[in-house]
Amino acid sequence: MKEMKAATAEAKKLEAIINTATDGIITIDERGIVETINPAAAQLFLYSPEEVIGNKIDMLMPEPFRSEHDTYLNNYHRTGHAKIIGIGREAKGQKSDGTIFPIRLAVSELRIDGKRMYTGVIHDLTDLKKAEQKILNLNKELELKVADRTEKLATVVDQLLGTNQQLKKEIIEKEAAEKQLREQEEELQAALVKERELHSLKTRFVSMASHEFRTPLSTILTSAELVEMYKDSIHQPKRMRHIDRIKSAVTNLNNILDDFLSLGRLDDSDLKINCDKITLSHFLSQLKEEISVLLKKGQVLEIKNTAGELVYFTDAKFLKNILLNLLSNASKYAHENTLIQLYAEDKGNFLILQVKDQGMGIPKEDQKHLFTRFYRAHNVENIKGTGLGLYIVKRYVDLLGGSIAFESHLGKGSTFTVSIPKCTNA
Ligand code: ADP
Repeated sequence: MKEMKAATAEAKKLEAIINTATDGIITIDERGIVETINPAAAQLFLYSPEEVIGNKIDMLMPEPFRSEHDTYLNNYHRTGHAKIIGIGREAKGQKSDGTIFPIRLAVSELRIDGKRMYTGVIHDLTDLKKAEQKILNLNKELELKVADRTEKLATVVDQLLGTNQQLKKEIIEKEAAEKQLREQEEELQAALVKERELHSLKTRFVSMASHEFRTPLSTILTSAELVEMYKDSIHQPKRMRHIDRIKSAVTNLNNILDDFLSLGRLDDSDLKINCDKITLSHFLSQLKEEISVLLKKGQVLEIKNTAGELVYFTDAKFLKNILLNLLSNASKYAHENTLIQLYAEDKGNFLILQVKDQGMGIPKEDQKHLFTRFYRAHNVENIKGTGLGLYIVKRYVDLLGGSIAFESHLGKGSTFTVSIPKCTNA
C-alpha cells in the first residue's frame, strides 16, 4: 500500500513536470497514435489535448512529411534504421490554423510493459528563426550598404585619381612655364650684362681715345708752331728735333689707329684665316727689320731660332701681328740699352715663340686682367698705350688655335710664350 502510494506520488510529480514544461512533449504508440500531449505542445499547435489524443501524430505535420510518416515508422520497425529517433533535428510543424512553423524535434524510443512508445520533445524555433532571418536580412542590408559604399568609394577614388592626374599635368605645365620664364630671364640678364659691358667699353674707349689722341696731337701742334718759328738755318737742329717729335707722334697715332682697326676686324664674324707658307728664318729676319725702327736707344733684339730654315704653314699676317705687339711691348716697357730676346722652337705640330725682355715687369695683381680690353697695369705711369695690344694678341692666338702664357717679375722683366699649331688645311 505504502509502495503504491509512493508510486502514485512519483507519477504525479512526473506529470506535474511534464505539464509545466515550456517545451512540448508528446508521446505516441508504435502506430503513430498520440497517447499524451502536454499543455505546452497543445498550445503550440493550437489544439486542445482532446483534439489530438487518439489521432495520428502526422496531423501536426505539414506535407510532405504528413503523408510520409506512416511509411517512415514502418521502415524503422522493419529495418531499425532511424532518421530522427535518438538523433533530434530541425523539422516543421503545422498548427490547427494551417500555419507551418520551425521546430527542434528530439525523439526518443521507450518501452513500457513490453509496449514500444516514442516521446517527442518539441521546441518552437519560430522566434529563433525570425531572429536568424533578421540577422540574415541585416547582414544582407549591410552587405548591400558595404557594396554601395565601396562603389561610392571607388567613384571618389577614381575622382581623386583623376584630380591627381590633372594636378600632375598642371604641375608639369607650371614647371615648363617657370623654366621658360627662367630662361627668358637668363637671356634678359645676359643681354643686360652685354649691354652694360658695351656701355662701359664705350666709356673707356672714349676716355682712352680722347687722352691718347690729344697728347700726340698737341705735340704735333706745338712742334709745328715751333718749326714755323725756327726759320733761320742756325735753328736747323732745333727744327729737326721738332720734326722728329712730329714723326714720333704721328707713328704713335698710327699705332693707336692700327689697334682700333685690328679690333674692328676681329669683331668681324667673317674673318678669314689664311694658311700661308712661311720659312721661319726669313720671316724672323723681316720682323727684326720692321721692329728695329721702334727700338729705344741701345736696345738690342737677339733672335735665337733653333728651328732654322723650317717651313711652316700658318696665317703669316696674324703671326706677324702677334710678334710685333709682343716685341713692341718688350721695348716700350723696358729702358734704353736693354736686351730683347726672341726664341723660336719647332715642336712638331707646334711652333713655340718666346719674347723675353728686361723691363719693368707686371705687378701680380694686374696679371690676371692683362688680356682684357683697355686694361693697363698700374705701373705703366706715363708710358703710352691703349690696353688693346694683348687683347688683340690673345684673339689672334685663339683664332689660330694656339695658346699664350707669360711670366713676369717686377723690375726684372717679362717673358711671353705663344704656341701656334700648324695649319691643318695646308
Ligand atoms: P698697351 O701696351 O697699349 O697698354 P697691351 O694690351 O699691349 O696694351 O698691354 C696691356 C698692359 O700689359 C700694358 O699696359 C702693360 O701694363 C702690360 N704689359 C704688356 N706687356 C708688357 C711687358 N713686356 N712688360 C711690362 N708690362 C707689360
